[in-house]
Amino acid sequence: MSPSDTPDNDLHQGVAGEDLIVFDQVVKRFGDLTVLDHLDFRVAPGERVTLIGPSGSGKTTILRLLMTLEKVTEGMVWVGGEPFSHMPRGSGFAPASESYLRARRKRLGMVFQQFNLFPNMTVRKNVTEAPVHVLGTPRDEANARAEELLELVGLGDKVDAHPTQLSGGQQQRVAIARSLAMQPEILLLDEVTSALDPELVAGVLDVLREVAETTDITMLCVTHEMSFARDVSHRVLMFDKGRIAEEGHPDQIFNDPQHERTQAFLKSVL
Ligand code: ADP
Repeated sequence: MSPSDTPDNDLHQGVAGEDLIVFDQVVKRFGDLTVLDHLDFRVAPGERVTLIGPSGSGKTTILRLLMTLEKVTEGMVWVGGEPFSHMPRGSGFAPASESYLRARRKRLGMVFQQFNLFPNMTVRKNVTEAPVHVLGTPRDEANARAEELLELVGLGDKVDAHPTQLSGGQQQRVAIARSLAMQPEILLLDEVTSALDPELVAGVLDVLREVAETTDITMLCVTHEMSFARDVSHRVLMFDKGRIAEEGHPDQIFNDPQHERTQAFLKSVL
């Protein structure tokens, strides 16, 4: 089955075109634990989707499947019409090789809770290493692009600094610039502010708002920052036990949640 065989989702608010991401009946188990339970969802190009829900409901696993850091147990993941999962047994597809998946993975960038910059390299070098060594971008071009991106994240004056000279919030902004330097079609954000001191959170979220406003990058975002989710998302998916309990426009989800699990979850975080 190809992604175009399945019906359109009319919740793709104002975003035209073919679906960029398709989860088709995805099951993920760790041993006896079912983390994703026959999950179906689709994301259109340019769409910004936020995943909310209690801890353990499977949100991070979705991002890790997209990064091919985990294998599906059953079902398929597609990105831009290409199979993006290790093929489950019985799927009728040949197993995807590591080199195939590594090549596919370049379409996505992921920013984690822990930013893991190279401490012995300047900010500029942290941002240019992957474009130069993975994409083969000429060093001059990579430097120029890094400077533009560091300007975008408000760190134009820190290109020659080392990560240890920066606050956690500034380091996370470098990590965002580093992801964008690979020119991904899709940016995955996994609780990117959870490890930060509270006073540093707003600066990072402002940068992501700016990225959302100034680029047409597709974003999939796991966050506990509900006001950020409300501002930037076209659509919010509420997860519960590896399934989507409810989905909708942020105004509807936050102002008028229908499902009791969404109501209880929002009560606990707002
Ligand atoms: P969320 O992001 O919603 O908090 P996760 O996707 O991180 O949820 O995790 C869902 C469940 O899967 C949790 O119970 C977690 O402990 C479990 N899990 C995640 N990764 C692994 C793993 N590598 N091995 C075993 N269990 C895992």
